[in-house]
Amino acid sequence: MTWPILEGVSTPYFLIDEEMIDTNLQILDHVMQESGACILLAQKAFSIYQCYPQIGQTLCGTTASGLYEARLGKEEMGGETHVFCPAYQDSWFDALLTYADHLVFNSLSQWQHFRARALAAGKSCGLRINPAHSTQEAAIYDPCAPGSRFGILRADLEGADLSGIDGLHFHTLCEQNVDALVETLEVVERDFGDLLHQMKWLNLGGGHHITRADYDVETLIRTVKRLRETYDLDVYLEPGEAVVLNAGYLVASVVDLVHNDLDIAVLDTSAACHMPDVIEMPYRPPLEHSGEAGELAHTYRLGGPTCLAGDVIGDYSFAEPLAIGDKLIFDDMALYTMVKTNTFNGMPLPAIYRGSAHTGAKIVRQFGYEDFKSRL
Ligand SMILES: *Cc1c(COP(=O)(O)O)cnc(C)c1O
Repeated sequence: MTWPILEGVSTPYFLIDEEMIDTNLQILDHVMQESGACILLAQKAFSIYQCYPQIGQTLCGTTASGLYEARLGKEEMGGETHVFCPAYQDSWFDALLTYADHLVFNSLSQWQHFRARALAAGKSCGLRINPAHSTQEAAIYDPCAPGSRFGILRADLEGADLSGIDGLHFHTLCEQNVDALVETLEVVERDFGDLLHQMKWLNLGGGHHITRADYDVETLIRTVKRLRETYDLDVYLEPGEAVVLNAGYLVASVVDLVHNDLDIAVLDTSAACHMPDVIEMPYRPPLEHSGEAGELAHTYRLGGPTCLAGDVIGDYSFAEPLAIGDKLIFDDMALYTMVKTNTFNGMPLPAIYRGSAHTGAKIVRQFGYEDFKSRL
């Protein structure tokens, strides 16, 4: 069999494709070189730190959502360590100061509470703003929706003392092209433009699908250059997905075939435990050699081996009937998967491999019973 099927390796397993990461890094490097932007890895999407040396050769560093990600980024990649956290806590704020370079505060009360400690430690501090301009439909991914807890509205900055603030941060996109950024910037520059002139940096957040084939990289480069020149500041981008887009597989096997109204294949991988975004987001993961339900001759509902009725990956069709033992290859499985796996129902965690079709694969980690037990 051929990549990403690994001879003699039992399923399910994740396989990270380091050549695809390199392909993505080349695009991100082009953006950094041409625009002068600094690009950071958002570790929320991908925290396989064994790949950080490779990623750190190109990117400026990492961004984190709290103490643990900040520590991982500083220790395993180095470079700049940025943090945005919806609510820093007294119990770990001092520990965070040992790892973080840039701190972004979500509210004026958080800023006032931690201001003295952050500035005394020499950190570059910023505020997350809420442009209150949605460019997407999905409510759970929309930090600009009414009632959102993210960022400070323009009206709430009136009269605020911003001494000590170096930068502004907004994160409002999710899997979007540059048109959504351009549209958001019109609002940000209209409403926050006066403040931008006082800032040293502007962080445009994540959600930029820069490495996707149809992404308009040249418009992004022009936009970043214009921002840097207009406001005389540094520009940061912190994509997660774009760094590892299409750079991973989840290989699984068919364990049983049953029938109830329709043909159902029970796999050794679980949507709920191994790719929870399938249920949470929700989305339909790409599966090699398959079609939509009804498109090819044989349609199956693919389900997981947990006792959750809703542990369903989706309905897919195949040219040939499935057989017990068949291997199935889910694509684009590096992002928001390994950071989100869980052992609900005592499910084993998939092993993690990395490598490329040319160099072969090496194991990153294997998991067992203790990984289930030790969390309880
Ligand atoms: C999630 C997140 C990112 C990364 O988003 P992607 O969609 O993975 O690019 C960046 N910045 C912040 C503040 C985030 O919450």
